[in-house]
Amino acid sequence: MTTVDTKASTRSAAAPSHAVPWDYAPAPESVKVTIQDRYGLYIGGKWVATNATFDTVNPATEQSLSQVAQADASHVDQAVAAARSAFPVWAALPGKERGKYLFRIARRIQERARELAVLETMDGGKPIKESRDIDIPLAAAHFFYHAGWADKLAYAFPGQAAPKPIGVCGQIIPWNFPLLMAAWKIAPALACGNTVVLKPAETTSLTALRLAEICDEIGLPPGVVNIVTGDGRTGEAIVNHPYIDKIAFTGSTEIGKRIARAVAEEQRPTQSGRTDAKRLTLELGGKSPHIIFEDASLDQAVEGIVQGIFFNQGHVCCAGSRLFVQESVLDETLERLNRRMSTLRVGDPLDKNTDVGAINSKQQFDTITRYIDAGIAEGAELCVPGSDNPSTVSSVTGGFDVGHFCRPCFFRNVQPSHRVAREEIFGPVLAVLSFRTPEEAIQRANNTRFGLAAGIWTDKGSKIFDMAARLEAGVVWLNTYNRFDPTSPFGGYKESGFGREGGRHGLRAYVTT
Ligand code: ADP
Repeated sequence: MTTVDTKASTRSAAAPSHAVPWDYAPAPESVKVTIQDRYGLYIGGKWVATNATFDTVNPATEQSLSQVAQADASHVDQAVAAARSAFPVWAALPGKERGKYLFRIARRIQERARELAVLETMDGGKPIKESRDIDIPLAAAHFFYHAGWADKLAYAFPGQAAPKPIGVCGQIIPWNFPLLMAAWKIAPALACGNTVVLKPAETTSLTALRLAEICDEIGLPPGVVNIVTGDGRTGEAIVNHPYIDKIAFTGSTEIGKRIARAVAEEQRPTQSGRTDAKRLTLELGGKSPHIIFEDASLDQAVEGIVQGIFFNQGHVCCAGSRLFVQESVLDETLERLNRRMSTLRVGDPLDKNTDVGAINSKQQFDTITRYIDAGIAEGAELCVPGSDNPSTVSSVTGGFDVGHFCRPCFFRNVQPSHRVAREEIFGPVLAVLSFRTPEEAIQRANNTRFGLAAGIWTDKGSKIFDMAARLEAGVVWLNTYNRFDPTSPFGGYKESGFGREGGRHGLRAYVTT
């Protein structure tokens, strides 16, 4: 077992080379977290060791943090069996009692918030100010919110029969919001009386394993939550397991399509006289339009643009990655954006002043640099505010001694056919396009295979409502961006998936009526 001194790791982490004339003094996070050398799987309330393990790495320092268990099909089988045997008792528990467990989890997340934030930042690379102020408080909020629903489900869907739980839910989550995604998935499932087998992403397992510890600490009955770590093979074993009743997946569109195909083709065995198909919800990729009208408050809009694309290094499925600016204010907006972006601090994620932390993995770093190369090759103009050499990949990635870092950048003179305007990059890269009329903005914004989110900035209320109604997006933010709340449903259109998470809509995916 190692106790990691975050101050020590701060000293070895990368700092931006394009320093402004004056600089902030370092403000390293001082909380220490204990990380075991090796973690097992959490199945049936016990820790189960595996022979196979893999390294989980701090992307800011490239140092190994721990060895995490690689679950195979037999471990998934054990986890499903534990969840199945816990299901009847958990489902039969009065909602008020289930709610108490959820409240306890929420409170424990709050009590351990700083430790969870530090761990999230070390394992995933996001700035500590985001994990501390956004990820962890929102994860607790999801448990609080759903705790409140547990004894009120009979009122959730007026006019319909009392909802019943579905059974065992297989939940597969990505690496961009590790604990928050676990909370999004586990809280509604448990509130509705289901049991869970959850797999975190392979680069960010540590906070999900801490959540397993919390389930243990608060006395959650064994088998109600099972956490199996591993890569895509583990995910596949969950998707294909015949005794899982519902799959909830958040991740790439490519894997989402594969899962949809597997679930559609599955021949489900009849169990206790039940033959219904495995249920499925998918929350997939996006290339969300962010539309700035000439009558918007430009300084506020620029803050929104920055928040929309550079939050969490752009590792956000609903990131506002396609910026549409009305032509009359294009130059002014880009000038202000340029100025604002040059003040963003890129570097040590554990420094409280850092705005943009480390890219989650080497693999993702390579993907981002490939897209930047493609943008340059296709003729778009790369702008890297604050960098001396504004036209090459190295101006985005250069100057960091260790770790995977990318400076926030944008492309101008982008054509709708360019890859940087069509494909999800999942990094701090913005594609800037323009429009003349609201009609043109709608057409260009909807010209995508995705439909997760959109943003509109204007002073005119009538324009907001007209545009919002015609944008093909699951979430439309008006004069703000990237606002999340457990009461508000989130999900996609088209290749961004189906099903909603959060709010009453999100509960529906975890009940039968
Ligand atoms: P990203 O491209 O954002 O890494 P992925 O879709 O590859 O997203 O991964 C999201 C989650 O899906 C991760 O937990 C990953 O391990 C899991 N996964 C990857 N491949 C498969 C698969 N074939 N079946 C089920 N889950 C998978």
